[in-house]
Amino acid sequence: MDRNYKIDGWKIIEEGFKPENNRASESIFSIGNGHMGQRANFEEQYSGDSLRGSYIAGIYYPDRTRVGWWKNGYPEYFAKVLNSPNWIGIDVTVDGEQLDLAKCEILSFRRELNMKEGILSRAFSVRMKSGIIAGVSTSRFLSLNEHELGAIRYSVRLSGGGGKLGFTPYIDGNVLNEDANYGDVFWDESRRTVDDSSILLVTTTRKTNFTVAFAADYALYRDRKEICTSPVLHSREKYAGHSFEIDVPADEQYTLYKYAAILSSENNHIDEIGQLALNRVREAASRGYDSLLDAHKEDWQKKWDESDIVIKGDPAAQQGIRFNIFHLYQTYTGDDKRLNIGPKGFTGEKYGGTTYWDTEAFAFPFYLMTSDLYVARNLLLYRYRHLGKAIENAAKLGFNNGAALYPMVTINGEECHNEWEITFEEIHRNGAIAYAIYNYIEHTGDKSYLEDYGLEVLIALARFWRQRVNYSESKQKYVILGVTGPNEYENNVNNNWYTNKIAQWTMQYAIDCIGEVKSSAPAKFRDLAERTHFDEVMETAEWKKIINNMFFPYDEERDIFLQQEGYLDKLQQTASDIPASERPINQHWSWDRILRSCFIKQADVLQGLYFFDGEYDIETIRRNYDFYEARTVHESSLSPSIHSIIASRTGKIDRAYELYLRTARLDIDDINKEVKEGLHITSMAGTWLAIVEGFAGLKVRQQKLFLKPLIPEAWEMYSFMIRFRNNLLRISISKERAEVENQSDMEISINVSGEEKAISPGNKEFFKI
Ligand code: BGC
Repeated sequence: MDRNYKIDGWKIIEEGFKPENNRASESIFSIGNGHMGQRANFEEQYSGDSLRGSYIAGIYYPDRTRVGWWKNGYPEYFAKVLNSPNWIGIDVTVDGEQLDLAKCEILSFRRELNMKEGILSRAFSVRMKSGIIAGVSTSRFLSLNEHELGAIRYSVRLSGGGGKLGFTPYIDGNVLNEDANYGDVFWDESRRTVDDSSILLVTTTRKTNFTVAFAADYALYRDRKEICTSPVLHSREKYAGHSFEIDVPADEQYTLYKYAAILSSENNHIDEIGQLALNRVREAASRGYDSLLDAHKEDWQKKWDESDIVIKGDPAAQQGIRFNIFHLYQTYTGDDKRLNIGPKGFTGEKYGGTTYWDTEAFAFPFYLMTSDLYVARNLLLYRYRHLGKAIENAAKLGFNNGAALYPMVTINGEECHNEWEITFEEIHRNGAIAYAIYNYIEHTGDKSYLEDYGLEVLIALARFWRQRVNYSESKQKYVILGVTGPNEYENNVNNNWYTNKIAQWTMQYAIDCIGEVKSSAPAKFRDLAERTHFDEVMETAEWKKIINNMFFPYDEERDIFLQQEGYLDKLQQTASDIPASERPINQHWSWDRILRSCFIKQADVLQGLYFFDGEYDIETIRRNYDFYEARTVHESSLSPSIHSIIASRTGKIDRAYELYLRTARLDIDDINKEVKEGLHITSMAGTWLAIVEGFAGLKVRQQKLFLKPLIPEAWEMYSFMIRFRNNLLRISISKERAEVENQSDMEISINVSGEEKAISPGNKEFFKI
């Protein structure tokens, strides 16, 4: 395989500059701290192809909807997390000539992402027209511990002669989103201050009125000695900067440190925001780059100490999982319940930084098992806070009595998606939200969540399903018509097995939880029933009728669940029948051809068997896996991880491993040929699941922890950490045995491959596998 990046356990390394691959690298090397993100654009000018991207969590713009044929019920806008003013900019000149990698002769180039420490760096050298060679090394980070700060170190050394070296550190608010529906400008300037000691630009988003202050400060050093500069001030519409030139001799290194404070009105008082940003940036500059970096590195170390996965014997797999974990933490840290996880995080414009079912179905279990309890709880609270809007959303479509339909895509609880076959039909998303509540309670035992918030959501979801089914006289069963399952390569189908299953399960789970809350917190239950006008006896009786009489499409001959009614009428082929030159089919075939084919974009029936595997025997899971895996093209990044888990569960370790590599290295190896648009952040959590729930076979059943470990042929051992009910466990699996170390102060029992042992605090136990 032609790899763009070197294999390394802790780093992503690009050697040599390939302009045609630059957008992809800008995604791969993105940095973020859960509150902001920055694509790996260059600090200095670059006139070649690039997607400039700098994003601030929660700062969005409601871009007017653009559709061909308007359908009633479509939302008015698509919310986008915006490309924000450029805080990294440092123009560099040598004897007046711009340093621009698209124009200068490149002699060497290396870009490196240090995942252990959260630092992006570059080293390159170029020959300028004068013949002088400029050797540049840069590094930057977005502080993990102070989420409003970014810092850059930019060093230049001239050789082959001295010259005039010019720097222009600036903030530029003249930015656009490439995906703006009508080419609108999203930012207005609300204040600009440029004087000898300040570079400040305060901008406000149109329509949504979010204000963000960008303040920059800098210092120039020759070796370790600070040099005074006499800057020229640049102040024009949405642009604030300083520039200066100095005469530099050959072979001496000059380093510009640039600091940026980026403060949003979501977290700061708007009247003082400019001054606050200036104070912050000056304070950061006085502490200096190295001291800020040390604190940032320390925070990364803490994250890795509790969540690293070590794989011995397989460097490509090791790099893959660290890359995935790294980007997940760069995207979401869980300390703010207003925030969520966009499918591309802060690495591109696609999907607008908005929330999809990906969060609950994929990302949620990762944070649940690797982070403090409040992180997963905040993800649930995000949906709880949007419950009112989900009820309004359902009402818009004709549902009543407090039924909730959560949006397919949202940022503030309102639906943003605007293709009827998904917006109105991909309603299975409601199910993943219920499933996350179940997962949370199983893992944490935090029943208070159910009493205070969860049950209210579950009742509203069950009410939706009650109204969304209808009784078919001919089948004498309840059916769900006109839906799109997770497989978006077919729309408007009847009785998608997965959707029917998750609808039925949600109603049952809601009934179970009603029973629990009635006994654990009767007063809270009475209050909830009153507030939501919940007629328990009548409504749950209706749910039970549906639960007991739900229709599930099934093929007797093959003894498998059918993805939807009529699926077998399609010409049955397998993915191996598609010539490699036509893959991915979504980039080669007409949509019409895709819709008529039997090919499946992503786990659909198998998604259900993944969630509910406790209900099915292994033979049933195997039969369905064999049938559907052969027909699945995995053109959603979310797909291979679920197939990998099921392959592990059914003992197909080699296939599980292939699928693991596909998910772990999806972006690094650009398998779906779309990395230039951004990374697949939510599917990265699936990679983690493929190890923990797939290879290690972790399950929680009746609040107990089970493992059934396997190990891929290529691996000598692997280890990971998980949190379970206030316990922190390190689990290591080798070819012969599993070792479980209890790093917390409570005893825990764990069942490994059928053998159960209690592990006291600070101790380890070994299990044969
Ligand atoms: C998938 C959806 C997913 C979305 C965002 C689509 O390609 O089919 O399941 O929610 O991407 O990741």
